[in-house]
Amino acid sequence: MALRASITAYRMRFRASPSKLLLFRQCPRRYRFEHVDRLAPLYRRPRAPLVMGAHVHEALRRLYAEIPPDERSPAIAERLLRNVWRRQRVGFSSVEEEREYGRRALAMMRRFCALSDLRARPLAIERTEQLAIDPGIVLVGRIDRVDGCGDGSLHVIDYKAGRRPAGDESRRDRAFQVGIYACLAEAGLRHAVTRGRILYLADGLREDFDFDRKAHEATLDEIRPRVAEILGERAFAPRPGPFCRHCDYLALCAEGRGYLDARSGCGEAAPRGF
Ligand code: SF4
Repeated sequence: MALRASITAYRMRFRASPSKLLLFRQCPRRYRFEHVDRLAPLYRRPRAPLVMGAHVHEALRRLYAEIPPDERSPAIAERLLRNVWRRQRVGFSSVEEEREYGRRALAMMRRFCALSDLRARPLAIERTEQLAIDPGIVLVGRIDRVDGCGDGSLHVIDYKAGRRPAGDESRRDRAFQVGIYACLAEAGLRHAVTRGRILYLADGLREDFDFDRKAHEATLDEIRPRVAEILGERAFAPRPGPFCRHCDYLALCAEGRGYLDARSGCGEAAPRGF
């Protein structure tokens, strides 16, 4: 009964974000715990990699939003990161672990400064946009940064606090995610967005995507069946994988625990992460 009531509530106005759509693809059971049962307040806890990623994002936001272009430098970026870090020090199991993540975050900032134009003048930073694409579907997303391109069009940039995935296996999902940001930026800023870039802060690699009107329409066309699939879902079956290790709902999921137990039994290495 409780599940039926919560499903009815979440169907009334579907807010489709890239993370929500990708989460359903990754594991419908986890999607249900998160977005149908809304268990996050009870089960979500700060995790060191996510806290580090959030701190790096916030320091980069401040670097571009608060520091004039000709005053930005690696030293300022590092100072901003240290300031952000001091205010939020949860999620670490020990002082040693916090130091280790702190070192990684500083390395990310240095790498970012070495590879990026610190004098850029972004048109938008950490901007949340919404776009109603159908009467019952609102597309929502938070865009890390939007820059102007030399040709007068716009360029969305997404920061990831991890490494660029090996191979092109999930490139389509990443193109879809950045494509959504491009659609949202174009609608919000009323200007053509022709490029998207993911910056992988852990290894300094980039991944670029080109967009045109046809690509934007294809992105929006892909959202509708994905939302229909989610709204029509009943079973929300678990889909265990290496990411179960970082799932907030592992305690509720026998399949995820079974998957991890079986992997630890055969000595599988921890997944490549931050
Ligand atoms: S533990 Fe794994 S299978 Fe279970 S809900 Fe989480 S991600 Fe899905």
